[in-house]
Amino acid sequence: MEPNNLTENQGSPCEPQTLFGIGASPGIVVARILVLKKHTHRVVWKRVEPDQVDEEIHRFLAAAGQAESELRELRRTFAGDLADALSIIDSHILILKDQMILERTVDIIREKKINVEWALDQALGKIKKRFDAIADPYIRQRYVDVKNVIDRVFGLLSGREDDALTNINEKVIVVGHDFSPEDTLRMQTENVLGFITEEGGMTSHTAIVARSLNIPAVVGLGDVTRDCVSGDTIILDGFFGRVYVNPTPDQLCQYREYDRQHKNFSEELALYIHLASETPDGHRVRLAGNIEMKNEVQSVLRYGAEGVGLFRTEFDYFNGDGIPDEDMLTETYSTLLSTLAPMPATIRTLDVGGDKFSRHLPNSGIRPGVERNPALGLRSIRYSLREPALFRTQLRALLRASVCGRLRILLPMISSLSELQHVKGILLQVKAELTRKQIPFDTNVELGIMIEVPSAVIMADSLAEAVDFFSIGTNDLIQYSLAIDRGNQYVAHMYEPFHPAVLRMIKQTVDAGHGRGIEVSLCGEMAGEVVSAAVLFGLGVDELSMRPSAIPHVRRILRRSNYRQLVELSHAVLSCSDGGEVRNFLTRYLPSTYPEEFGCR
Ligand code: PEP
Ligand code: MG
Repeated sequence: MEPNNLTENQGSPCEPQTLFGIGASPGIVVARILVLKKHTHRVVWKRVEPDQVDEEIHRFLAAAGQAESELRELRRTFAGDLADALSIIDSHILILKDQMILERTVDIIREKKINVEWALDQALGKIKKRFDAIADPYIRQRYVDVKNVIDRVFGLLSGREDDALTNINEKVIVVGHDFSPEDTLRMQTENVLGFITEEGGMTSHTAIVARSLNIPAVVGLGDVTRDCVSGDTIILDGFFGRVYVNPTPDQLCQYREYDRQHKNFSEELALYIHLASETPDGHRVRLAGNIEMKNEVQSVLRYGAEGVGLFRTEFDYFNGDGIPDEDMLTETYSTLLSTLAPMPATIRTLDVGGDKFSRHLPNSGIRPGVERNPALGLRSIRYSLREPALFRTQLRALLRASVCGRLRILLPMISSLSELQHVKGILLQVKAELTRKQIPFDTNVELGIMIEVPSAVIMADSLAEAVDFFSIGTNDLIQYSLAIDRGNQYVAHMYEPFHPAVLRMIKQTVDAGHGRGIEVSLCGEMAGEVVSAAVLFGLGVDELSMRPSAIPHVRRILRRSNYRQLVELSHAVLSCSDGGEVRNFLTRYLPSTYPEEFGCR
């Protein structure tokens, strides 16, 4: 990265300009900007003498090794509750070990007797072709991860360090084309007040890491590095995805006021960490946290969650150097359960496949040309049933850990009663095996299923007879009921949580569960969105499970609601005929009912 001198534009008479992007991490900042332009690597071709081939290979392996140690070091430095950012770094470490890159580059150097830069560029070109051929746009875009990692190796080979990133010694908003997660973490974040990038969307790496670090960000801003220069003052509005370049005094004044209101509001929200999750007329809803790694349990406790409503266990199979064994899993689950006890921990069995894949697991996830429709293919519980040894190991670990706290086992993507009975049969066998070996476990451990495909909603009354609880996975339920691929940018605008079909399915599931006396939770992203909270409360869910930092705000909405009104609200939205109609209704309803939450702008 090359910085534009920060003082370059001081005092220049610049026109105010408003740019519209995507608000990727909430918050408002007013500050000067530092534009970081990306290095481009010029790859030259050089012949290597036969007796220097080994040395050239050594140069490559040393650079790849150094890149890996730097990533591991970065990971260590940021251990804590940056789970999303850290899992991206883990995937980058795996890329550095990938044989497609390592072996191919070494083979090219050996066979063609050429320099490592050229060989690496050739290997990268081959990988790009394979990614280009992948039909799924989300997976295709993941080439950017490979490119980020290889760029780092190129930088090390050329002996150049990214000083601009590590030497940010003034408080600035950083502007660039896009930043890799490592770039973002490497910046001295106490001086980085915000991020702006030309590329990216809500799920781009800059967005994920910015949210993890609680730094406001706007992404997808086109040619911003061309339109702005270092030293420009801007207002970054990470709530609404707006950037005001060289703002007018009126705009500055107005935004300073929004910022003040927001800060006061955030301070007030902290009070809700310790309050009960109930309406003044006594309707209770449990607010729980979603986590991907056991060390996130600290943030679950910090934000006042009443348990873990979803532990996505698959991340333990993605990180590290191999498949975790039974003892490792037992240790992880036991720690989580004992830290949370007496609060419940809902631990979901492996949900791999689709776009979640691990090089350690056999037959998991996208294998170009093998699965045409991975989202409809070998994923979630289907994968576990196909790999019974792996599944039994996880069930054994869960049961062994169950003595440490209050465990609820959750099965993902169940689509029929016979599939559920099949799993229950395996669970019974595993329990019998533990009993035979006199290994203690909680014989009353609760078993629940995710409701995330339409067939499960329609059959919810029968399924409810066979389990202790439901957890509605709206991320997938929306995808499967509206036929919208979660990761496909071309149809992303049609992904509508407020589609009345989705709302009616939630209601149908709640009614079926309550009709059979079981609890119904909801753990998709929707649970942590303040705009959906009141609707979901009104639909009657017993628990909402969300990213822990959203809990105080959702709890505030619950405590400012009246249950009768929430139910009326749910009737109103259920009678709408389109998602747009629901949104229009909420645009009027929410600001008048919750003026402090929604009345601001
Ligand atoms: C869901 O589908 O809503 C869910 C919580 O599961 P995941 O996002 O892990 O697929
Ligand atoms: Mg899901």
